[in-house]
Order: sequence, then C-alpha cells, then structure tokens
Amino acid sequence: MPEAKPPVPNKPKSAPQKAMEKLGLLRDIDLALHLPLRYEDETRIDPIAAAREGQTVQIEGVVTESRVELRNRRQLLVTVEDASGELLLRFLNFYPSQQKQMAPGQRLRVRGELRGGFFGREMVHPTVKPVNEDTPLATSLTPVYPASAGLPQAYLRKAVAAGLARAPLAEVLPVGSLPPGLPTLREALNFLHHPPPRVALATLEDHSHPAWQRLKFEELLAQQISQLRARRERADLCAPALRAAPGGLHEKLLAVLPFGLTRAQQRVCEEIAQDLAKPAPMHRLLQGDVGSGKTVVAALAAAVAIDAGWQCALMAPTEILAEQHFRKLVQWLEPLGVKVAWLTGSVKGKTRQKMLDAAADGSAQLVLGTHAVIEDKVQFARLGLAIIDEQHRFGVAQRLALRKKLASQALEPHLLMMSATPIPRTLAMTYFADLEVSTIDELPPGRSPIVTKVFADDKRASVIARIRDEVEKGAQVYWVCPLIEESEALDLKNATETHAELTAHLSGHRVGLLHGRMPAAEKAAVMSLFSQNQMSVLVATTVIEVGVDVPNASLMVIEHAERFGLAQLHQLRGRVGRGAKASVCVLVYTGPLSPTGKDRLRAMAETTDGFEIARRDLEIRGPGEFMGARQSGAELLRFADLQEDSALLKAARDLAPRLLERDAGAAERHVERWLGTKAEFLKA
Ligand code: ADP
Ligand code: MG
Repeated sequence: MPEAKPPVPNKPKSAPQKAMEKLGLLRDIDLALHLPLRYEDETRIDPIAAAREGQTVQIEGVVTESRVELRNRRQLLVTVEDASGELLLRFLNFYPSQQKQMAPGQRLRVRGELRGGFFGREMVHPTVKPVNEDTPLATSLTPVYPASAGLPQAYLRKAVAAGLARAPLAEVLPVGSLPPGLPTLREALNFLHHPPPRVALATLEDHSHPAWQRLKFEELLAQQISQLRARRERADLCAPALRAAPGGLHEKLLAVLPFGLTRAQQRVCEEIAQDLAKPAPMHRLLQGDVGSGKTVVAALAAAVAIDAGWQCALMAPTEILAEQHFRKLVQWLEPLGVKVAWLTGSVKGKTRQKMLDAAADGSAQLVLGTHAVIEDKVQFARLGLAIIDEQHRFGVAQRLALRKKLASQALEPHLLMMSATPIPRTLAMTYFADLEVSTIDELPPGRSPIVTKVFADDKRASVIARIRDEVEKGAQVYWVCPLIEESEALDLKNATETHAELTAHLSGHRVGLLHGRMPAAEKAAVMSLFSQNQMSVLVATTVIEVGVDVPNASLMVIEHAERFGLAQLHQLRGRVGRGAKASVCVLVYTGPLSPTGKDRLRAMAETTDGFEIARRDLEIRGPGEFMGARQSGAELLRFADLQEDSALLKAARDLAPRLLERDAGAAERHVERWLGTKAEFLKA
C-alpha cells in the first residue's frame, strides 16, 4: 500500500504568529475587526519652528552637523535644519550604520516628541527615515494596534492590512435596514484602519464617528439575533407542564413555613408557577437582594415539580452554600416525605453511588449539590426543574455544560437561575433578550438596617477592642480576610495569622477559622458550630461570600476592603443584618486608595440597597466589566457600550426580529461573521 499522505513538514510558527493567535487573530475577518487604539499622523510635515514642546510631530530637514559626544555617556547628536529653523536629535544608543545614515547633507524625515532640553529644543530617539525631496508622504493616518509582547506594530500592520484586503466584507444586511447615515461595513473598516489625513481625530477616539457607529451596530445586532434565536429555539422545545397538586407538597410546605411570604415573594412565586405550568421550558432569572429570601422561593418551585411527579436539581457554586441549602431544605421538606440526594465533590465511594442511583432511578426527588450535579456520570430519571443559585458564580462554560446535559433528555427541564447581583432593569430588558426576569424588591419584615463604617488600618487595634466588647455581650462576628488574587497560599497564611491574633485577644471565647482549602467535612463542622452559636468569631476567607445564613451574627469586619469589588462587598455584608439585631459592618482599608477604591467604599457606607449598589457599580466600572465573563457573555461586546450606545442597541433590538423573519439567511450570515464559534457562549 502506498502511503496515503506524504508527511507534512512541521513548519514552526514564528513568535509574531503565535502572539497573533493568542490575541485571537486567526481568520481574515478577525484581523479586519482588530481596530486601532490610536493613530500616528505621518501624512504631513510640520515646520520645525511651528512644532510645540510635548507634541509628537513629523518634520523634515537636512543634516547640518553630526557628532559623537561623551557627556555622561557616548551619544550621537545630529542637527537638522529646514527653512524655519533647526532641531537637535539625540541618540543614546546607536549603530555606526545610523551614524552614516545621518551624515551631513542628508535629508531626513523625523518623527518624535519635541522636548525643551537644556541645550534647546530636541528629540530623543526619534524615528528617522532618509528621504529625498520627492519622497511621498503617507496618504492616511498610521494605525497603532493593540499588540502584545513579541508582536511588532510593523508586522501587525501588514497582517491587518492583508486580512482587511482579503476578508469577505460584502454587505450582508439588506439595504435600508440600517440606521440612516452609516457607511457600508467595508467603508467603515477601511476608514477606521486607514483614516484620511486631517480627519477629526476626536470622533475616532471617542468612537462617535459613523464608521464606529456602524461597527457597534453590527455587533449589537449579532448579539440580539443570536439571543432571539436561542429564545425561539427554546420555545420550540418541550418541557413537562408542572402544576402543584391540590393538597400536595406545595400546599403543605406553605403551611409549615415559620413565616408568611412577603408580597414580592408571592409575586415571583406566581410568575414562576405560570412558567412551570407551560409545556415549554422556563428560562427565568430570579433576582433579589442578599437576604431577600430566594431560597424559600426555590423550595416552593421545587415543591411544584415534585408535586407533579418530577425531579428537581438545585445547584450552588460552593459546598458551603450547597450544604446550607441542604440543611434548610431538608429541614423543611424531609418531614413532608421528600427524598433528598446530595452530590458534591466530597461525596465519594459507596455513598456517592447510592446518590447517583437515587438520581438515576428517580427515587431522589430533590438532588442538591455543587456543579458535581452536572458531571457526565449523573443521570436523572425525570428531571423537571433545575435551579442554579448564585448563577453568576458559575462560569459561562459551566452553564453551557449544564444546558447541554439537560438538553440530552427527551423533555427539557425548566431552568430557574437565581442571583443577588441584580442586573439594572433597563439592561435586563434590552440586553437579555433571552431571559425572563423576576425580581424580589422587598426584604422580609423585621430586619434592622446595617450600619457601615469605614476605617483606615491604623485603627485595627480599636476595632479588635470593639469586637471584644461586643462578643462579651453575646454578639457573633464574621472577620473576613482579604482575597489575594495571586496566591491562595498567602490568603491562607493571612487568615491563619488573624485567627491566632484574635484567639489571643479574645480568651474565653471560641474563634473559628474557615477557608477554601479545608476539607468539606471540617468546613461544615465549623459552620455548624457558628450557626448554633457555639462559636463567637468566625475568621474566614471569601468562602463565606455567598449564601451563608446565620441570623444571630450581627457584626462583620472586612479587612483590606479596598481589594474587593463592590458587588462582592455587598454580598459579604449581606451575611449580617439577617436577624432582628442591629448590625454593623466595619470596612478596614489600607491606603492609599485609588479613586475607584474610594468610590466603592463610599457607596458601601452610603447605601445598603442592592439595586443602588448595582447602579453605582455600573457607573464605576461600566457595563462590560460589571457583568463580566460570568454573568452574561457581555465580554463578547468589543465595540459597543451598553450605556453609551443605548440608541444603537434599541435599533438593533428592533431590527433583529424583522431580519429573522424576512431574511433568515442574512441574519445567519451576520451572526456567523461576528460571533463565529463564540455564538454558543451567548446561550449560556
Ligand atoms: P437570599 O435571597 O440571600 O438567598 P435567604 O433565602 O437565605 O436569602 O433568606 C434569608 C433569611 O430570611 C433566611 O433566614 C430565611 O429563612 C428568611 N426569610 C425568607 N423569607 C422570609 C419571610 N417572608 N419572612 C421572614 N423571614 C424570611
Ligand atoms: Mg441565597
């Protein structure tokens, strides 16, 4: 048999090629959409005398003198002259060839920043090009691209220009469907990569130029279409219609709850019940501030599913939180005869197999756990409802895995996502075209507001003294240690030291330690001591961030508060103020504070309203970052800004359904061009 294929020689990739790949610059279209950060103007020559200090200019002149001097170090000094004056060029490192290139009599085109040096006006290390009298000027501004180490601008410029020339940029959108006054895509891209001389740079830099508007519109449209499509695909899917049975679990659960539902809870329960009763899968986000009582809403939704004879899976991002749900739900539901299974990474061996069997044969009506619940091995007999708590804490990829897993069933389950990081309403309505939103906008009665105080870390000793006083009076305290991004080990050291320090200062009181590296059983043991008030102080890393519920805890100290994001601080603070006791949150920071750090701490001190916090967070950070990779796939928006470009967003939102209706092929090609393989992620 002849060889099927000759061996392909392994051509090694060059460093710039690898760097381009890392930046995601693979297809021609990717290159065409890699837009300049800024521009350099090489289209004109300024007279030497007219150039001002601090300006980057291009001048052209003839070398009148060139000499090497030894001041502090060897340097090359070149004087050039044009009709208006002369200028000194200074080179601290130079090759003999450069010296030759800049010999007296040579005409040079020089680009650089003009400085007012001790010896007069000069440029240090300018870009120099030998020219003659009729060397043409650049005909467009020179783009400066986002690059990375090992990727020279010159290389990138060539690659982008080639990609731009080759990219298939024919208009995909029907003529007349775009907002008026926008150029074609090809015109827009040609313009942005190579703007003509004397264009108003400001409109390019603030992205208000029509060429920019066109790109933003395209991007927003792709986003809207793909979300709309996902929504329609889902509407075509079938789900079991779930209704509570008269006299069933749902009614019984309501009857045994130790409290009545707030009006807001009743309303969202009703919204969820209506979705569940439909034969199409629910895709709903339940948002409500920390402590607003989402868990009981989840339990009631689960009860509807179980009533209807289906299984419910409830997932939480951490074991601690999963364990909390487990305890609470078991406490409510087991006495009513519900069979519960428990799946996390730390449930192993025989027990795990038993849980897996119970999920697979349908005997477990409620399956609780971490993302272990969505692992391949887990099968459900009749999964009717999946609930994800603190959904923004799951990565996009994890949510996608979940959806894939669920989709493999003959009937899709309903999906309820819960989050304490509210999406501002306008954003939710315009941007999350694929999501219904229910909001709990009221806290259960009888909560006393949390007072937040901000101290610099030189007050740490008095904070500790204050804690001792409070603990003497029977208070329970959380002490949150900072998150150090780079090092989990450092995190741990910090928490351990603080634990030792507080133990020393609070003799006679129990101080516990909780961190992410502890075995789950140990974590659960510490949490249980704290929640039963057998422990006064809990020193913890951010593992307690979400969901921990100990109503008697009324004081929280957060160290290095400046290192936390606003949403995270709000989440943490939400661990106190859960009971009737007046609660205090102390934010200890280490200066100097950055301006945004200051804004964050001020926001925390001024309000405890989660929606207000979210609004401020949006202001401080901007929507892209606000939602981040976890929340939405909004990171896929490279050009548009949801706040600034709300008019374009609205136009895109209007066009998307019309386009899908009239020219589904065009809609398809448009999404493919913009999102390629990333379109999947938008469904997560
Ligand atoms: P979150 O929305 O942050 O998940 P939880 O579900 O943990 O909030 O609820 C916070 C606390 O409030 C829990 O102790 C819960 O039992 C209690 N709770 C929930 N709803 C009510 C209510 N309607 N009345 C009184 N307490 C409630
Ligand atoms: Mg919760």
